[in-house]
Amino acid sequence: MKELSSKICGIPLTAALKVDLKAKELQAKGKNIINFCIGEPPEAVPDFVLETAKSAALDGQMKYTNASGLTELKEAVAEMYEKRFGVDYSPKNVAITSGAKYAVYTAVCTLVNPGDEVIIPAPFWTSYYQIVELAGGVPVVVQTKKENGFKLTPIEFREAVSPKTKAIIINNPNNPTGAVYSKSELEALAYEFMNADVYVVADEIYDRLIYTDTPFVAMASLGNDMKARTISINGVSKAYAMTGARIGWLCGNENIITAASAMISHSTGSPNTIAQLAAIEAIKGGDEYASRLCESYKKRAAIISEGLAGIDGIFFAKPEGAFYVTLCLEGPLLEKYKDGEGFAMALLEETGVATVPCTQFGNKNAVRISFSVSVEELKEGIERIRNFVKTANC
Ligand code: PLP
Repeated sequence: MKELSSKICGIPLTAALKVDLKAKELQAKGKNIINFCIGEPPEAVPDFVLETAKSAALDGQMKYTNASGLTELKEAVAEMYEKRFGVDYSPKNVAITSGAKYAVYTAVCTLVNPGDEVIIPAPFWTSYYQIVELAGGVPVVVQTKKENGFKLTPIEFREAVSPKTKAIIINNPNNPTGAVYSKSELEALAYEFMNADVYVVADEIYDRLIYTDTPFVAMASLGNDMKARTISINGVSKAYAMTGARIGWLCGNENIITAASAMISHSTGSPNTIAQLAAIEAIKGGDEYASRLCESYKKRAAIISEGLAGIDGIFFAKPEGAFYVTLCLEGPLLEKYKDGEGFAMALLEETGVATVPCTQFGNKNAVRISFSVSVEELKEGIERIRNFVKTANC
């Protein structure tokens, strides 16, 4: 038979999968595993959202909607941007997708021609790299520095930009570092983006999860020029614990959304109808739920920041948002385990704590911890990591 697509077959399996397989193998042998790999809130979906989904199902709401989503959902999204960020979007500026991941994919495909460069600050959410390649673009990875809290600086952007740069992906709050950009940091970057005439894919899926006094600032709220060149990405997965609903969206200028909607209509078609109806309820009535979720993550962020402080050979920035911490390995610890993957496998085998090596997050000497687990698991996992590193350092 003829060969399969080299583009698709070139996509690597994730390093997380390797850890996951090992964790399952150890679990089957009876080992107690603490899983710090999972990127979803364990909390229950709000009751009123479930009620809506139930009624919608019983009501037979299982027909196609408009390919780019229900107008009522687009209206709810547009109202939310106005209310929370003062960004004036109309339903024509919104396309609903099957999850925020597909919103990022649609955004990048809509912007990029073959050979166009897309800047991705590292560490980054692993899918960005593959998405840019799938779209025919060229990922340009820029290493951010720990002394800058893993945030991109204007100088780093200027060094990376070229005449071929079409877009940059900014993930704020960030997966996997938990970094959050302040308004002045975003304004300084926005100035550079406008100067260089690049589009900005602003993945703001963790916007509700902020743990410091630095408020979240939406990229599209930084003036009309930024609004026109920004594609805002968000969804219901993280703010309302609705990961399986698979509802996300992209917002942007009308040209972008018209083109993106055509792509959606020929690929996934309309997102799940019941999930769209449930998402309307979540967006309209979920503020209190999202605030409670944030409060509870804030406590977990404090536990992890305190619990992992002062470990020899491990550097991390305190998470300011999202629910991740990147542990950077240094000195003898790095020499011993060679890279994040070596450390993650040894940690898993010896202590049963599963973490994700950051190899495919653009930082091979680090591992990612998701603190989206119960407080008990978190404390137990931290204790195991401390003991493991103490022994390893001896
Ligand atoms: N963007 C980031 C930064 C994420 O971490 C994730 C999920 O982990 C997504 C997008 C995808 O969200 P969804 O589950 O809605 O596709």
